[in-house]
Amino acid sequence: MDDTTAPLVALSNVSRTYDGGSLVALSAINLAVERGAFVSIVGASGSGKSTLVHIMAGFDWPTAGRVLWQGREVVDRHSWTALRREKIGIVFQEFLLLPTLSALENVEIAMSGTGLSASTRRSRAAELLDQVGLSGRLKHLPFALSGGERQRVAIARSIANGPELLLADEPTGNLDSRSTEAVLELLFALRRRAGMTLVLVTHDEAIASLADTVVRIKDGRIVDAGRGTQEAR
Ligand code: ADP
Ligand code: MG
Repeated sequence: MDDTTAPLVALSNVSRTYDGGSLVALSAINLAVERGAFVSIVGASGSGKSTLVHIMAGFDWPTAGRVLWQGREVVDRHSWTALRREKIGIVFQEFLLLPTLSALENVEIAMSGTGLSASTRRSRAAELLDQVGLSGRLKHLPFALSGGERQRVAIARSIANGPELLLADEPTGNLDSRSTEAVLELLFALRRRAGMTLVLVTHDEAIASLADTVVRIKDGRIVDAGRGTQEAR
């Protein structure tokens, strides 16, 4: 049984080195993300933010320390694959849509392996794209969509399986200010509606300050974790 009083996800003394130990990307990170929380992670480029997110998603792994999901250490790739399919949604700065698939198909494939029928996957994908304001763009290929629209497809894909945790790594890093605002509002609205836990990585202080907790990272270390100073709309 999962421990429901434990944080949804926690890093315990996590370090990550590369290049045989000569490059320290993360150093002794302790971070607990409570269920329902909105945590932002802010830091300069190269400070270790993406490494942290990759480790929280099981794409990368600590060279020391542990990652716990609801109090239980996640150890094998199989468990991570299941978590990513069922409980963790991820949004990247580069959108990472498959270029030869339509918006609808890009969302549908997130539901492969869930046991849903093809027609259910299709109708749910259409519903999700409607939720993110793209009902008029189902058949479009990524190249025919604006950056903001592409990111909204990626967000629809990330929430397709009703994740408990949404990890967003600089989701507005490639967007103009208008699309940035629209994408942030969408993330906040989806979070409110579904009660999702949100971890949002940014190097933008103004965006970071919208979170309940702002975690500051510098050279792979957490240097501060305090309350956000603004209210997310
Ligand atoms: P940020 O997301 O804050 O810009 P990253 O987590 O991407 O920072 O990178 C932190 C440091 O770790 C950087 O010096 C980066 O070059 C290094 N790094 C990240 N991933 C790898 C990898 N797979 N192999 C080697 N070095 C890496
Ligand atoms: Mg990064």
